[in-house]
Amino acid sequence: MKKTLFVLCSVFVFLFVTAFTANANQTGDVDGNGIIQAADARLVLRQAVGLADLQEDEKLAADVDANDSIQAADARQILRVSVGLDQFTGDFTISFIDVGQADSIFIACDDETMLIDGGNVADGPAVCSFLYSQGVETLDYVVCTHAHEDHVGGLTDVLESFTVTDAVFAPSLTNDTLCYRNFTAACRAQNQTPVAPRVGSAFELGESTVTVLGPALQNNTDLNNSSIVLLIQYGDTSFLLTGDAEAEAEKAVTQLGADLSATLFKAGHHGSYTSNSYDLLQEVMPEFAVISCGVNNEYGHPHEEVLSRFGAIGITVYRTDLQGTVSAVSNGKTLSFTTVKNELPSVPSPDPDIPSEPEPEPEPASEYIGNINSHIFHVPTCSSLPAEKNRIYFTSRATAVQNGYTPCSRCKP
Ligand SMILES: [Zn+2]
Ligand SMILES: [Zn+2]
Repeated sequence: MKKTLFVLCSVFVFLFVTAFTANANQTGDVDGNGIIQAADARLVLRQAVGLADLQEDEKLAADVDANDSIQAADARQILRVSVGLDQFTGDFTISFIDVGQADSIFIACDDETMLIDGGNVADGPAVCSFLYSQGVETLDYVVCTHAHEDHVGGLTDVLESFTVTDAVFAPSLTNDTLCYRNFTAACRAQNQTPVAPRVGSAFELGESTVTVLGPALQNNTDLNNSSIVLLIQYGDTSFLLTGDAEAEAEKAVTQLGADLSATLFKAGHHGSYTSNSYDLLQEVMPEFAVISCGVNNEYGHPHEEVLSRFGAIGITVYRTDLQGTVSAVSNGKTLSFTTVKNELPSVPSPDPDIPSEPEPEPEPASEYIGNINSHIFHVPTCSSLPAEKNRIYFTSRATAVQNGYTPCSRCKP
């Protein structure tokens, strides 16, 4: 009789699976026998109708959608997994694609997708490959945070390879460069016009909500400060992406009066000390930061000051230059991270917006290397040496200190 009742229950819940979009996580094995099966769903249903009491750890495994309530929806999800219709993987994934000294961020939420920036022109093919590897066929939204090449460059290839079904967003401040003109031409070719989203507006991406918080600076003519700023909320987790917004634009965002607290913060402007201000950080107080920058980039990103600001707040930092593509999956409560290092070295691209630097000379024999901007000095083997043009060499530690330079917290000279 019990068995018949269960089968009926199973069929009943099975019929109502279509609209279910859980923030599923690594749970479901309620009885802890290593297999997710109908028996687990049965336990959940018995608990839900008051026929069984679960232990604390069983309750945790049973609350599949992590909404603090054990109900038929959890059993339904378990049944879907047990028959291979679903997987307990988070429905929200954000990937910071390794595009060297540039930005490209891909978000997939409940079958809806958004690409924010596409790296440099030369990164276009790699960004497209990444999207293909994720099973992307069309993109719901494409965002160009601002008109610098390291953000808009690769979007042309993307727009030539993927149809955008909803909207292309870009700030109203444009740039008269070849790569920007190519971007708008690629938009036109698929009947899209880049739209400047209204600050304060919001739209849905699957079950997540994307709120536009920038550009918030009035009468601005600086491209970095024109960056589109997005706060994305998925369950209890949230993500703040500020493009290359500098401190003054960050301040304008804090003055909007919005709740800026976020689980993850994409470090502003590749980890530059001109962004990532305490003004903003104390509003965001993220648990995690992701810095998108290139190995040994000529700007010395991420700057030591930023790493120490992050360190002071206790932020766990992920870096594309050190770890490759960084992905975070949200189950609506917590984030789990994976990193994948590129097998191929990324090709540095000539940037028409920025005068190109001569190839750096091989390092001269010198005991200590200072950064003329940050006044921090390093040993020659440090992983965060400044660009050649920003270097000053000292023959001894004492000379560096006498000149007002402070030791790097990474290499501890
Ligand atoms: Zn940039
Ligand atoms: Zn920029």
